[in-house]
Amino acid sequence: MSGIDTLPPLREVIATHDLAAKKSLGQNFLLDLNLTAKIARLAGDLRGADVLEVGPGPGGLTRGLLAEGARRVLAVEKDPRCVPALAEIAAAYPGRLEVINDDALEIDPLMHLTSPIKVAANLPYNVGTELLVRWLTPQDWPPFWTSLTLMFQREVAERIVAQPGSKAYGRLALLSQWRSDAQIVMTLPPEAFSPPPKVHSAVVHLTALPAPRYPADAAMLSKVVAAAFNQRRKMLRSALKPLDPAIEDHLQAASIPPTERAEQVSLEAFCALARSLSAASSRTSS
Ligand code: SAM
Repeated sequence: MSGIDTLPPLREVIATHDLAAKKSLGQNFLLDLNLTAKIARLAGDLRGADVLEVGPGPGGLTRGLLAEGARRVLAVEKDPRCVPALAEIAAAYPGRLEVINDDALEIDPLMHLTSPIKVAANLPYNVGTELLVRWLTPQDWPPFWTSLTLMFQREVAERIVAQPGSKAYGRLALLSQWRSDAQIVMTLPPEAFSPPPKVHSAVVHLTALPAPRYPADAAMLSKVVAAAFNQRRKMLRSALKPLDPAIEDHLQAASIPPTERAEQVSLEAFCALARSLSAASSRTSS
């Protein structure tokens, strides 16, 4: 931790501001400032970047991000009880921390940030996946962020980086890996948090690709992947039949055996299938 962080220990901050953790807000706080500094470093070089942090809570990671040199941090916290604690951090780092007391699902952070932008957060478990999917599916690509460094329950982190043939492989893996390079960069036991959650956690670092990894129409790819994994034990020729009666021809065009199941199919092959279906639908509509 950089020497400029002269703020009180986090346990003291929690006691002073009466921040007893609320389960309904997914509050499992990180109190070890060495650990929060380490997570901030996993986000890469923060100097010259604005950082969006969702759910700063008492501010452990916020302090790490600022001490590691973030140009500015925009911290969006739903719990109003955390605001006075965060104001103390803002006073220690003049002009570098802006706090918004709101629901991260309801605000547009871009009004407050300047490129390049990184996202770093110990996400509340109840909105973590929804936020990730939003960040991965903006209207235009590349997105507003250059990287996402996010703490999830380990099971969710494993779904993001999963490879074909594993149980964890599915929509989240395909979406994440189509748009980014994603890696688990740290795992944490429950005891790292206060209060400890029931499960292990992991930090995933996602770097935005300049363009999606393989060409495909986003809406068509999403439709194909949803249909394939909604019935993941079924052979693709039956699971995907509702998309196109000639699905076997499209599977063949994408070099996918029609008897294959979704969890065996690579991202590259799903993209080829989406392209074949898009081409057929543009032929019928013209
Ligand atoms: N960053 C802190 C840390 O590492 O100790 C707290 C992490 S805690 C897992 C999640 C935080 O997200 C809590 O402070 C909680 O109040 C906040 N939160 C929950 N739902 C939220 C939402 N929809 N928008 C913004 N913050 C939210």
